[in-house]
Amino acid sequence: MREVVDGVFELSLGFVNMHLVVTDDGVVLVDTGLPRNAKRIDRALRDLGKQIGDVTAVLLTHNHFDHIGNVADVRRRSGARVFAHAADAMGITGVNEPVEPKGLAKFAVRLIGRPEPTKLDKVITGAESTPLPGFTAVHTPGHTRGHVSFLLDRDGGVLFAGDTASSTRDGKVTSGPTQASVDPAEQSRSLAKLAGYEFEHAVFGHGRAVSGRAVESFRAYARSLPGAGAGESGPDAGSGPSAESGPDTSTGGDQAGR
Ligand SMILES: [Zn+2]
Ligand SMILES: [Zn+2]
Repeated sequence: MREVVDGVFELSLGFVNMHLVVTDDGVVLVDTGLPRNAKRIDRALRDLGKQIGDVTAVLLTHNHFDHIGNVADVRRRSGARVFAHAADAMGITGVNEPVEPKGLAKFAVRLIGRPEPTKLDKVITGAESTPLPGFTAVHTPGHTRGHVSFLLDRDGGVLFAGDTASSTRDGKVTSGPTQASVDPAEQSRSLAKLAGYEFEHAVFGHGRAVSGRAVESFRAYARSLPGAGAGESGPDAGSGPSAESGPDTSTGGDQAGR
């Protein structure tokens, strides 16, 4: 486990990260990793001098199995409130059709098992909201319909980008995994939207954390996207209606299947 900034810890579970945030109001988990890793979470909490009962909230970025793996167990044992976006609720609560995993995830689910469904305590809606004090939820659809990224107001701002973005080996921001994305072009627009915020640090579902003016790396990537426009304008560049212009954007059109 690695401390990214004061009180923000990254726990790597195989190929996916989850995050533990120590707040005045208890420990907040951002995502919960692969199924059957509850013991790893308990150990991480113990390393912080905490225990499962200290977890007061779980913020889920999206409903993929490698992010919601232990949420039912954590909720049951801690009494924590679980938050996720309305558009991803069905893949978490199991009330409706479960999300059919695609690509590699399909094989991983076969090996590891499906996450246990859980109730949600609070459903996130709208483009932007404040699920917990200090946390802003930003709707960043594309990877899934209900993907949300979270901004923590600490140490210049910490972005929990989920699977909307990721980082390269040399510490640059790049797109998050798109193999299982419902709409990769929309995912790119969501990444560009994040570049319009201010934050010093960014952490990802996959890839190492980026620290120190992380937002600049988001802006550089957003400028490189097709349809990003002239590039020299402000940080809000790719977020306007201009992003859905021509039919020539490389990732648009027919491959944006459901
Ligand atoms: Zn995902
Ligand atoms: Zn993922």
